[in-house]
Amino acid sequence: MNHFEPANRRILTLKPGKERLVANRHPWIFAGAIARESGPANAALADLLDPQGRRIASGFHSQHSQIRVRALTFGDEELTEATIRERINAAVARRMGSGLKLKVPKNDTRLGDRQSSALSTSDLTPFDNAYRLINAEGDELSGLIVDRYNDIAVIEIANAGVEQLRPLIIDCVQQAIAPRGIWLKNDIPARKIETLPMDPEWIGEGEPAAEIRENGLHFHVDAPSGQKTGFFLDQRENRALTRSLAAGRRVLNLFSYSGAFGVYAAAGGAASVENVDSSSSAIELARTNHALNGSEATFTVADAFDYVRKTTARYDLLICDPPAFAKSRGDIDRAARGYKDINLFAMKLLDPGAQMLTFSCSGHMSLDLFQKVIFSAAQDAGRRISFVRRLTAAPDHPVSLFCPEGEYLKGFLLEVH
Ligand code: SAH
Repeated sequence: MNHFEPANRRILTLKPGKERLVANRHPWIFAGAIARESGPANAALADLLDPQGRRIASGFHSQHSQIRVRALTFGDEELTEATIRERINAAVARRMGSGLKLKVPKNDTRLGDRQSSALSTSDLTPFDNAYRLINAEGDELSGLIVDRYNDIAVIEIANAGVEQLRPLIIDCVQQAIAPRGIWLKNDIPARKIETLPMDPEWIGEGEPAAEIRENGLHFHVDAPSGQKTGFFLDQRENRALTRSLAAGRRVLNLFSYSGAFGVYAAAGGAASVENVDSSSSAIELARTNHALNGSEATFTVADAFDYVRKTTARYDLLICDPPAFAKSRGDIDRAARGYKDINLFAMKLLDPGAQMLTFSCSGHMSLDLFQKVIFSAAQDAGRRISFVRRLTAAPDHPVSLFCPEGEYLKGFLLEVH
């Protein structure tokens, strides 16, 4: 079936007065803005009409989600198969950096054939061989995340329309980076709402695991057991910053997961590195990664909230990168208390001159609120603190100006006086 045929699309008509939402090019069109609908209920794509019947947007459709359309095109722009291919190719090109050449066959907008890209792409990108290839709204492809881990790709699809276009997306990813295999993770909660299967799938050869290289360091990524898509690529630059600050310092890496911050700190000449995570499999992964890089560290399976209260150790550089405490808007107060608590007790482990990288990856937690939480933690900890830098996600995680919700990771480099 050709999902792009007009007859195969859902037609949704906006309620009067809701046109403004679309004029702002926000890609999420909610059920509450829709007056009438027609066409196949399970269509992959939908056209959005204004109350006068003019098409004003088109995009991925969902009959189950509150987000009924994830708009890709607006106004007169046509949504065709070429639109999707161009968006994916643009996303790939964006990662390659301007000074770096790609083999692009003449008269072909695709990024090289399978063989030439298999030979060359790992050396072409400024991100080594691991990066977010497609970042949903930030690459104008709402509902789709693709990460590259050396010779495998991990795809996470959040919308029923995107799921129906899987063959097209897989074809584009294969054309672009020719991975040995593609792991379809299929585990985000949104898929339940979309009534999509939650079982993962492996399309490829060998094991769905890879060893990646990042800023000259090496990490093991196991797609099936890994958290999220397997490795937190968004922290790449903040890890590099950690390496540059670590020389001679006693480093505590709270919520260490893969131990990546710890590995960077050790590579930067830290006097000691302690990784703390409540998950024993995460700690095993951190051990593997330190071993891969020939670096020493200590490893503790513990609840970080307990650890910071009980330890008698003191540190000169502390990383605090917890999971998202606010999963929904209603969670914000509870999450703010969690962030305050962990930061307060972490600050007590620091002496004057020490530095701390502290993060929130909760999309619902604004930068402003996070700063207030850190302020109140510093007050209660009795520490004089300034922030030296604001920290954010790496540039392979672009954020659409029209969808600021995509900016979830925020952090500060703090210094104790
Ligand atoms: N800093 C990591 C990513 C952290 S992800 C990196 O750069 O890769 C969050 C981690 O926090 C997970 O590994 C999870 O197991 C751990 N975690 C969740 N709750 C915890 C708790 N209460 N105490 C310690 N670790 C916890």
